[in-house]
Amino acid sequence: MSIRPILIHPDPRLKKVADPVSDISGEMQRLAEDMLETMYDAPGIGLAAPQLGLPHRLLVMDCAKDEGSRPDPFAMFNPEVVWKSDDRNIHEEGCLSIPETYADVTRPAEVVVRWTDPTGDAREEKFTGLWATCVQHEIDHLDGILFIDYLKPLKRQLITRKMQKLKRERARTA
Ligand SMILES: [Zn+2]
Repeated sequence: MSIRPILIHPDPRLKKVADPVSDISGEMQRLAEDMLETMYDAPGIGLAAPQLGLPHRLLVMDCAKDEGSRPDPFAMFNPEVVWKSDDRNIHEEGCLSIPETYADVTRPAEVVVRWTDPTGDAREEKFTGLWATCVQHEIDHLDGILFIDYLKPLKRQLITRKMQKLKRERARTA
């Protein structure tokens, strides 16, 4: 397993719609493992393949982040929201591609997601609370949508400028 670099917004690869994964090969399974390792290392609770510059509909997440709780990792190929609640939830979101930036986003409070797991089995599960927010945030990545796209244009522009500056600074010190 290896830790892979995470793209920072703005990057055209973060704005693309990712392609369905038709064959969950050994290479794809290894990618899912690398993504989990990269996510835990960051540390984060979710990561989508486009954030590594890869156009695959694959995400990983683990929201069991309370101290002492056991890891509860998910790797989802071709995830789809098949039901969402009318109830909404406001959660402060962040993103590994938009470091140190947080904002409230309103989303359905509960969702049912269908996906294929790394062994090729079809899975379906209901997610609530932080898990529901996280899985919707990550599925958005597969459609080229970032959480800042839900903010007012001015706020989004300010964040984008902050990230451009961060990228310039990182490039200088790299
Ligand atoms: Zn994100």
